[in-house]
Amino acid sequence: AFLSFEGIDGSGKSTQARLLAEALRQAGHDVLLTREPGGSPGAEEIRSLLLHGDPDRWSAETELLMFTAARRDHVERTIQPALDAGKVVVCDRFVDSTRAYQGITRGDLRAKVDALHALMIGIEPDLTFLIDINPNIALARATKRVGSEARFENFGIELQATLRAGFLNLAHRARRFRVIAGNREEDEVHTDVLRMAEAFLGP
Ligand code: ATP
Ligand code: C5P
Repeated sequence: AFLSFEGIDGSGKSTQARLLAEALRQAGHDVLLTREPGGSPGAEEIRSLLLHGDPDRWSAETELLMFTAARRDHVERTIQPALDAGKVVVCDRFVDSTRAYQGITRGDLRAKVDALHALMIGIEPDLTFLIDINPNIALARATKRVGSEARFENFGIELQATLRAGFLNLAHRARRFRVIAGNREEDEVHTDVLRMAEAFLGP
C-alpha cells in the first residue's frame, strides 16, 4: 500500500509520517518511510539543486521538469520496488505537492503537471493524509525548526494560504484524501492518522 502525507510548509507532515511509520512497524507491517523531493540517491541530488542557490535560476517549467525527474527516479528506485516487495510505503509529499507548488505558485501549470505525471510517473497514492493548518501557525513552526532547508518558506503567508486552498481543492476531488486538522498536539493528530490508516489497511 502507498500512503502519502501532504500539506503546506510547517504543517507537521514529516512528524506525522515518522509517527505513522513507527506505529505501523510496531503493529507488524513492513514499512518504508521516504520523502520528496528526494527519496533515492539521484532524487536527493536533484533536491539539493532545487533547494540551494537562487530560486529563480530556472523557469517554472524547467523546475517542474526537475521535480518530475526526481519523482521518476524515486518511484523507479525506491517506491515501486518496495511496493512490489509488499511493503507499506509512507511518503512525505508526492505528486499532490507538485500539483500545488509547481501547479499554481508560478503561473497555472496544472495541466502540464498532470500531463507529465500521466506520461512519466503514472502511480497515485492509495491513501493521502492532508495535514490542514492555518498558515500563520505553520509558519511559526517552520521558522522555529532547526536545520531547515526549506527555500520556499519566504513564500510568505499569502502564498501559503493559496497553497492551503490548492491542497483542499485537490482533497475534495479525490476519494483517497483524508483531511486532518493539524492545529493540535502531535499525538492527537497521530491518533486520527493511525486510526484511518488501520481502517484502510485492514487487519
Ligand atoms: P516542511 O514541509 O516545512 O518540512 P513539515 O510539514 O514536514 O514541514 P514538520 O517538520 O513535521 O513539518 O514540523 C515542523 C515543526 O513543527 C517541527 O519543529 C516540529 O517539531 C513541529 N511540530 C510538528 N507537529 C507539531 C504539532 N502538532 N504541534 C506543535 N509543533 C509541531
Ligand atoms: O517538505 P520539505 O520541507 O522537505 O520541502 C522542502 C521545500 O521544497 C519546501 O520549502 C517546500 O515548500 C518545497 N517544495 C516545493 N515543491 C514540491 C515539494 C516541496 O516547492 N513539490
